[in-house]
Amino acid sequence: MKSEYEVCIGLEIHAELKTNTKVFCSCKNSFGDKPNTNVCPICIGLPGTLPILNKQAVLLAMRAGLALGSTISPVLTFDRKHYFYPDLPKAYQISQNEHPICIGGGIKLDNGKFVRFNHIHLEEDAGKLVHDPFTDETYIDYNRGGVPLIEHVTEVDLSSADEAVEFLTKLRQTLVFADVADCKMEQGGMRCDVNLSVKKKTDSKLGTKVEMKNLNSFKAVGRAIEYETNRQIEELENGGQIIQETRKWDDTKGISFAMRSKAESKDYRYMPEPDTFSIEITENDVNTVKNALPMTPQARLDKYTSEYGLSDYDAKILISEKFISDYYEECLKIYCEPKTLANWIMTDLLKILKDNSYSTLNEIISAQNLCTIIKLLDDKKISRNISKELLNLTIETKENPLEIANKNKMIETISEDKITGIVDSVLAEKPELYETYKQEPDKITNFIVGQVMKQTQGKADASFVKEYVSKKMN
Ligand SMILES: [Zn+2]
Repeated sequence: MKSEYEVCIGLEIHAELKTNTKVFCSCKNSFGDKPNTNVCPICIGLPGTLPILNKQAVLLAMRAGLALGSTISPVLTFDRKHYFYPDLPKAYQISQNEHPICIGGGIKLDNGKFVRFNHIHLEEDAGKLVHDPFTDETYIDYNRGGVPLIEHVTEVDLSSADEAVEFLTKLRQTLVFADVADCKMEQGGMRCDVNLSVKKKTDSKLGTKVEMKNLNSFKAVGRAIEYETNRQIEELENGGQIIQETRKWDDTKGISFAMRSKAESKDYRYMPEPDTFSIEITENDVNTVKNALPMTPQARLDKYTSEYGLSDYDAKILISEKFISDYYEECLKIYCEPKTLANWIMTDLLKILKDNSYSTLNEIISAQNLCTIIKLLDDKKISRNISKELLNLTIETKENPLEIANKNKMIETISEDKITGIVDSVLAEKPELYETYKQEPDKITNFIVGQVMKQTQGKADASFVKEYVSKKMN
């Protein structure tokens, strides 16, 4: 990029909320069902139907806003956004224009820059068009129509592809950890549009902006920003002008092309939605949601490094996905050895996760079974090599590791004869122990237990040793 130019980027990010039902009707909100099975007169826009607002959607939108530092609007109203397209049977989308649910907030990047949200609003999703290139026919699936969405609109604060990708990664992480959305881009659960313009650093006014759509991965967002930045600078350098337009990104070809120019672009004719009530959100409502907010990724990171003593690098891996962090915390409740558990999860389980088609760690091995194996090793009942073998067998058979270890004679046990032999020889070497035992029985017992453990690499049954010592002494 030529150094006298700077890039000004704003993003609009849609995320589908994790509700059980749609936002204005009771149809199921679920991905991957047979097309047009989760539909009803409301979400296919039949005349005479009335929308009924889903409370869960409002609560999740509030939760998203609070996790992102936004202020919650005290009044919630909806507006109609009109456009005519087959994915929208009513020919308008119920959205928010006047009073979006969340105002402000933002995300801090690693370089210290704070990227602000203008607002976050709640709206309904449209249906999905599926084009069959072989028959040249287009099909419509209305299962997605009416699914609750939040749209995050940022200020024009970003100035590179790297910043945009970092911002999106952090936004996704925050929404997933707050249990607001799954943000699965490949399923359309998170979508991002980019507004981009370039200007000379000496210019105070923003350049003409171009909107880019159809960006279905963070990588595509990064590539599209780089491509568009270079295209605009080149255009200006050649004496040309930037046309305000919408461009579609083709990730396979690595180019963008014009979809429609501003002249054809739509006037949405926003008007207040007459079929929904305005809703008052009290301070009490806000506090209730705030108090129930799950721990943010940043708070978990701080806890892992300061309280558990993990390195920043390790802690970042554990919070890279919510299901990894949740699994780690589940293990900690069973066996509180933060560093040991972190090592097992990172070196063994994440490798298995990457090499196979598992989507959670619990699918590989339950937290309980993993902790059982680690504890056997820590208690020196099995060697390190055996512990890895036991892990593999447990993953393969899904059986209880203790049973597997017993069945395969993996746990080394020291015979009672051997133990009594060691105790006898210690006493034969130091007969004075009989006398001192009378004054300090606990101290002498512990000393003998220590000797036995030393000679058996910690594999003897301590309670049996104690029992035998007391019998001998009396
Ligand atoms: Zn419906």
